[in-house]
Amino acid sequence: MTVSVFTGAINKERLHRRIEELSLIGKIGDTGVCRLALSKEDREAVMLVKSWMEEAGLEAFIDPFGNLIGVLEGANPVAPVLMLGSHIDSQPYGGRFDGVIGVLGALEAVQTMVESGFVPMMNIEVVAFCDEEGCRFNKGLFGVRGMTGKLEDGELARMDKNGITRGEALRQFGCDPALIDGYEVTADRIGAFLELHIEQGPVLESLEQPIGIVSGISGPVWWTVEMNGFAGHAGSVPMPMRRDALVGAAKVIAALDAIARETPGAPTVGTVGSLSVFPDSRNIIPEKVSFTVDFRDIDLSRRNGLEARLLKKIDEVAAEHGLTYSIREDTKSDPRYCADWIKDTLRAEADNMGISPPELMSGPFHDSLTMSYVCDYGMIFVRCKEGISHNPKEYSSPDDIAHGAELLYLAARRIGGNEGGIEACRR
Ligand SMILES: [Zn+2]
Repeated sequence: MTVSVFTGAINKERLHRRIEELSLIGKIGDTGVCRLALSKEDREAVMLVKSWMEEAGLEAFIDPFGNLIGVLEGANPVAPVLMLGSHIDSQPYGGRFDGVIGVLGALEAVQTMVESGFVPMMNIEVVAFCDEEGCRFNKGLFGVRGMTGKLEDGELARMDKNGITRGEALRQFGCDPALIDGYEVTADRIGAFLELHIEQGPVLESLEQPIGIVSGISGPVWWTVEMNGFAGHAGSVPMPMRRDALVGAAKVIAALDAIARETPGAPTVGTVGSLSVFPDSRNIIPEKVSFTVDFRDIDLSRRNGLEARLLKKIDEVAAEHGLTYSIREDTKSDPRYCADWIKDTLRAEADNMGISPPELMSGPFHDSLTMSYVCDYGMIFVRCKEGISHNPKEYSSPDDIAHGAELLYLAARRIGGNEGGIEACRR
């Protein structure tokens, strides 16, 4: 089923207009955006969104981490809040939709509530998190980690490539880093988080569906594998006597691809994205090869199984070709699942819209990943053209985005209308 024309409660034209207007700040080329975290452009964008929040009747402020927060006060302002949002910073060569639709879609959802006279039971907060992308200071999810008390030592001293520290950048942005220390961690007052985001992959397009419900964010395992053989003259060493590290690596890479494909329909992915060969000469048998491994899956036991199988394969290949090897684990994070009750709420409201979005997992990280450690969360994905993202060619249609924002609105309204608050939604 392909749904193309949108009808719903939210104001599709207003949402589209705001997305367009925001994309002019830091515009590159015809459709690209460069809005690095805490830059002049980022500040301009945040102030524009803040003005829209105020126009919608929200109380808006910027916290010491550079997060923009707009509050719609509910009947019980001390009850755990429902938070909606994403980010508006971009990659240096980014698109108009990544993060943006999650912030402006959330604002549209809340503005629609205000305009219809709906008062939620708890406060609803719309958030534009600071520095999700992490390209300027080489570490992302800054704002959301700050808000939830998960910053690491030395983060304010991290420098961008011009030698400006994050602390200085925050000051230039208008924040006071001195307030960060001891800033009240808000984790226990957040009841749930909903994020609307473009898929950044090709699944929804292939299913001809405008939106999808996310099951969880898959956890990656990152390795650096090094295989060592022995160099020799490419013209003289007979084949049976060779210890060719590249032939070994090639077999491992092909095996990884086969292992990741084994369960048809599973969201497992495996990638070798970087490889280096030593001494890298056409006349020398490769002596040393190192390559990266990236395995992701939403099912932790299946991912553990793949890891074990790949390890065994590396060992077999090394024995077959007379190689030694080492494996360094660079990252290992667990999958984080969306809350069942939120998925149920999204499914029920999608049903009311007359659509049945498929469930899919998220390979990339999002602000939701950090939020998952402090509250229940759910995500809605919007179809994007050819799965392209982190690229000026990134595109989602106004109708598809409107479908996502409408589902966000309906789900937030259902949660907001529960008299027992978020606690009662869980039961
Ligand atoms: Zn994003």
